[in-house]
This record gives sequence, structure tokens and C-alpha cells, in this order.
Amino acid sequence: KAFRSSNLLVSASNTNQGDLLPTFKIAIVGAGPAGYFAAQALQNLVTEDRVFEIDMIERLPTPWGLVRSGVAPDHPKIKTVSKVFEKIASQETFRLFANVEVGDDVTIAQLKDRYDAVIIATGTSIGKTLGIPGENLRGSLSAANFVPWYNAHPDFVGVDTPLDADTAVVIGAGNVAMDVARMLALEPSELDPTDTADHAIDAFKQSNIRKVYMSARRGPEHAAFTSPELRELPKLEHTNVIMDREDIEAAIVRAGDAPEKDVKSNLDAMLLIAQNPKTEHERTLQFLFQHTPKEILGTDHVEGVVYSTPNGDVTIKCGLVITAIGYQAHGMDGVPYENGKVVNSDGRVTDNLYVVGWAKRGPSGVIGTNKSDSAAVMELLVEDLKSPKKAGDISELLTHQVVVSQLDWQKINEAEVAAGEPLGKPRRKWVAREELIKQAGL
Ligand code: NAP
Repeated sequence: KAFRSSNLLVSASNTNQGDLLPTFKIAIVGAGPAGYFAAQALQNLVTEDRVFEIDMIERLPTPWGLVRSGVAPDHPKIKTVSKVFEKIASQETFRLFANVEVGDDVTIAQLKDRYDAVIIATGTSIGKTLGIPGENLRGSLSAANFVPWYNAHPDFVGVDTPLDADTAVVIGAGNVAMDVARMLALEPSELDPTDTADHAIDAFKQSNIRKVYMSARRGPEHAAFTSPELRELPKLEHTNVIMDREDIEAAIVRAGDAPEKDVKSNLDAMLLIAQNPKTEHERTLQFLFQHTPKEILGTDHVEGVVYSTPNGDVTIKCGLVITAIGYQAHGMDGVPYENGKVVNSDGRVTDNLYVVGWAKRGPSGVIGTNKSDSAAVMELLVEDLKSPKKAGDISELLTHQVVVSQLDWQKINEAEVAAGEPLGKPRRKWVAREELIKQAGL
């Protein structure tokens, strides 16, 4: 074996089925929802005339992408989709090559030479910035760094998250902003029965933040967050959630008699929040609408945000600002990018290169959106396939890496679940790559 992995890496082409049928080799780069749903779509497209051998390549020692490092830890139900991912991965013709970085350990060109098709499913990992003065001050950070920090992503454990001031501001009115604001505003012991990173639970418990503002640059009728997320806010046991009734009533008037269903549902949920009597909790989450950020104040760290509003400039004093205003894709050699996405036509990139998920269409939609999206791209990919090339695979390119296979990952997964059990957590995540790899026995 050229590289270290506990998996025997049996190739499907060695099986009877593989010998009899034309076998197309497919590489999927990125083990997040879009990648798994692409694999699932291919598995569903197997016919009497063709099979697919799928190699999924992932940079981290752990798969599941945003389901592991993006979804808020107090939303465990959303993470149950990982069961679907594991079912897809359990097929004989599926192999995981985790802890392998495309662009570093292997190149896109090498993959294109060895696979009948290569699918980019690497998402959009970079947070968009506001481009206003003060954005680089200490205490100003992107949700693209803060979210993986509290979700135990190995690359973000060292993110500087000053929680010593009493007030934090979250900029943006989408579901990511909502997750971040909720994580900052809830009573941290509510995170004990979750898979939040230990270092983040400790930091939240020591945090002085008691007041969290979430600011939208437009009115409530234009908010990007969705009503299920709004409806859970009044259930926060230790947090006062405040919306200005006049703001919401004015938005209802502006939305008119026949607002779109989602808008109506949002406004109904917001009106309920605005009508809620104020409680005596020491923690507060307050929504600000029609607040456009103009400048972040401070000399060596964040001291406030200046907004322009319909009533003139307003300054909110705070020690932490988190921007949650969208994401863009990280570039990779051999893949054309434009406007934060991979240049593509319905998922086709160039010759045998394809793209799915947020890297294809930008950062929008829920996890399930990727299912139909990936399936549509796989239909096109299969239309393009002629006869199999079968010119080798990634294993011949890996010389010194520690590769985490599906079996290795299963060991990590089981160890995390077992470590969480006595603590009443769904899992206790290891953070450092070395520790994760050790849990796999590698
Ligand atoms: P999003 O839904 O696109 O929201 C981005 C927000 O940022 C919008 O409110 C936008 O306001 C605002 N924004 C953009 N540029 C801005 C600027 N320069 N200044 C101030 N505000 C600015 O993006 P997201 O929150 O990152 O979420 C991405 C996707 O993941 C969404 O589809 C979301 O629903 C999904 N998601 C779902 C869940 C869940 O189901 N629980 C959780 C997290 C994420 P404008 O509208 O004014 O541009």
C-alpha cells in the first residue's frame, strides 16, 4: 500500500458485476451534502448497461461538510440527513478518500485524466465582506469563521472570538445570521446536550455578552431568514427576543394585500414576536431593520457600528461584530471561477468537469435543495458519458498521505458518538486533525 489507510480499498471493477458491465469512474471533490446527493443520483442512474465507481475526496479527515461544520448545534434534527449520507457511502461502489486535499495532494488535471468525470462539490467557504471602514479590527469577523469555530472545524479552532464586551452585533438577515445571533444570545448551558465544540461551550460560558443585535439593511418584508427559524425564537427559555411592533406593522402595510406565501409567513411570525410581552431575562436578542452598516468604530478593537437609517445615523456600541452576508467559493487550480462561483452551464464546466451545490449556484437554499440540483447535473453528466476510460484512480497518486477511508471514518464516528453518550450529547467532536486520525487507528 502506498498510503496509510485501514480500508482494503476493494475496487468495484474487481467484482463480478464490474467485470460484466461498463464501469464509469467518477470522482467527487468535497464530502458535503451536494457531493453526497450527486453520488446518490449516480447510484440511482445505474442501469443494466452501466455502473459507476464513485470516489469521494475530502480535505478534512471527516466527511459531511456543512452538516458537520455549518448546521447550528442546537438544530440536531437537520443533522439527521447524515444517515442518508452514510447509506450512500455504504454501497460497494463508493469509496471515501478523506484527509486528501485536491489542489495540494492531487490536482484537478490528474483527476480529470483518471476519471470519466470529476464533480466539484466544494461549496463556498469564504465569507463576503462589507467593504466598510473598520472591518479588519479585532472583534470583527465573518460567520464563515465563527460558525466553524463553534462547530469544531479543525482549521478554525484558533479563531479569535472576543466575547468580553456586553454587546454583540450580527450583520445580515439570513438564516446564518439567525444561527449566529441565537448561539450568542442563548444561555450557554443550553448547549451542553449538543455537539458544540468543547472550546466554544467554555468560551460562551465565560462570555460577558448579554445583548445581541441582529441588523437587516432592509425592512422585515425583505428578510432572508425563514419562518421556522423565527418561530423557534420565543421558545428560547432564557432570552428576551425583541422586535419593534411598529417596524413589523409598517412592513405588513408595505407588503400589501397579497404578499408571497413566505413573506406572509415571516411577517406573521414576526408580529407574534413583536406582540410578546417583554420578560425579565438578562439576555436579549433585538432585531434592527433598515439599518445599513456604514462604519465599524474602534482603534485596535471593535467599539461600535455606525448605521445609516431612515432617521439618520445611529451608533450601536459593541465589542463584537459578526457579518453573515453570504459566501463565495474558494478558488482551485484548473477550475474557472467568476463572481464567487464556478463558471458553469447547468453544472457543466469544461470537458469532463462538473459542479454541484453552492460552488455551482451560489450560497442559497437549504440542504435538501442540493438533492434535486445535484440530480439534475448528474442527468446531464450521464448524457455526456460515452464509453468508460478507466485510466486509473486517485490511489496511484497518493504516496505519503494518511487517507481516511469510509471504514476509518466509521471508527471516528462511532468513537465520537460513544464519547458523547455519557454526557447526554449526540457526539463529542474531536477537533485536531491528529486526534481525529488517531481515533481511526491510523
Ligand atoms: P442569505 O439567506 O442570502 O442572507 C444574506 C443576508 O445578508 C441578507 O439578509 C442580505 O440582505 C444580507 N446582506 C448581503 N449583503 C449585505 C450588505 N452588504 N450589508 C448588509 N447586509 C447584507 O444567506 P445566508 O444567511 O448566508 O444563508 C445561505 C443559505 O443557507 C440560505 O438559503 C439559508 O436559508 C440557508 N440556511 C438555512 C438554515 C436553516 O435551514 N436553518 C440555516 C443556515 C443557512 P439583502 O436581502 O438586503 O441583500
